[in-house]
Amino acid sequence: MNSEQEFVLSAIEERDIKFVRLWFTDILGHLKSVVVAPAELESALEEGIGFDGSAIEGYARISEADTIARPDPSTFQVLPLEAGISKLQAARLFCDVTMPDGQPSFSDPRQVLRRQVQLAADEGLTCMISPEIEFYLVQSLRTNGLPPVPTDNGGYFDQATFNEAPNFRRNAMVALEELGIPVEFSHHETAPGQQEIDLRHADALTMADNIMTFRYIMKQVARDQGVGASFMPKPFQEHAGSAMHTHMSLFEGDTNAFHDPDDSYMLSKTAKQFIAGILHHAPEFTAVTNQWVNSYKRIVYGNEAPTAATWGVSNRSALVRVPTYRLNKEESRRVEVRLPDTACNPYLAFSVMLGAGLKGIKEGYELDEPAEDDISNLSFRERRAMGYNDLPNSLDQALRQMEKSELVADILGEHVFEFFLRNKWREWRDYQEQITPWELRNNLDY
Ligand code: GLU
Ligand code: MG
Ligand code: MG
Repeated sequence: MNSEQEFVLSAIEERDIKFVRLWFTDILGHLKSVVVAPAELESALEEGIGFDGSAIEGYARISEADTIARPDPSTFQVLPLEAGISKLQAARLFCDVTMPDGQPSFSDPRQVLRRQVQLAADEGLTCMISPEIEFYLVQSLRTNGLPPVPTDNGGYFDQATFNEAPNFRRNAMVALEELGIPVEFSHHETAPGQQEIDLRHADALTMADNIMTFRYIMKQVARDQGVGASFMPKPFQEHAGSAMHTHMSLFEGDTNAFHDPDDSYMLSKTAKQFIAGILHHAPEFTAVTNQWVNSYKRIVYGNEAPTAATWGVSNRSALVRVPTYRLNKEESRRVEVRLPDTACNPYLAFSVMLGAGLKGIKEGYELDEPAEDDISNLSFRERRAMGYNDLPNSLDQALRQMEKSELVADILGEHVFEFFLRNKWREWRDYQEQITPWELRNNLDY
């Protein structure tokens, strides 16, 4: 028993925790949970908990069904009380998943991210991440395939008075603070019911854990108020989708390796190579950062979402934006990747973005001048003539690009890469078979 594990055990006793949730994530980004009684935790910490990996999306094949979830004691956190469900205190720990012999499981997204974090560490670098998480608050009615009903008619930065949104955000903020997930900003987004909460930066692995926790807690806080929180990328045809803009920087000890006070954009060579890596490889990894059929309904013209692999300073149509806000503060120098949506698997999305950026640094990629154009006002032909690299605009195209990518195969590892492609091709085929109301309206000709 090491000191971190002992700390967890004594905290559980002191806080009178009645049950402990052990969490991990499947390849598609669904949170999995097994509850242990406090009395069982000591052995769970030492030996892990066995589970049937073959029953979890993308984990072991039947022949290797024995899989072990090993709690990471550094992730211990008491959960806010679940109002209306229980007055008993619960806590959570994220797990690393291993095979029975202790080898890391190839299927565990947390291990995929750990590998990239280690690659960065080998170069003396730590990746810090701060996400802007957008999502919709909707009335919790069964819609049976029809659009949901937003909870309010608010718009960007509106201080609404008579609806659920401000109450929801206040309760959400209190819950997140209790969980040790500090919030930087929160506001109403452009569309009815759409919210945004921006988290203060943390290292990549902690942030991926925090995002999983965030989604779970937001759904719970919403339910306590009789509404629903949806992380679907584009639930409404007429309103913007929900992004997860990801602000990234690399630190060398206490020094921000992205900052150069002498550069006109205050960006170091490392930062420019990192951006070039992201832009060069974005079409190959879009299937990971935007993993659903529905994701591609968001990244279209006119939604403040990127449609080509460009970068810009304060340009909201760019894939990578360099914020000018707090330009002179060294610790704030960062790049904002605007591609991921709010329903990605954060472990895998951070892995491919970090891996692409690191590749740019390692290979010394050159960065072109920033795009000044509002890409969304140009036609595809104009864009191609100007040398812009288009992003895939359907899951089908994204998977074709991913299949060819050595880098993405390398980052995800063979097992996750193969499973992901298989699963997503199945989703695409299923979608392709659908006859939509739009087609019936346009083509039914009796
Ligand atoms: N909701 C927009 C998107 O889907 C982003 C809006 C913003 O700039 O915050 O990308
Ligand atoms: Mg936003
Ligand atoms: Mg943003």
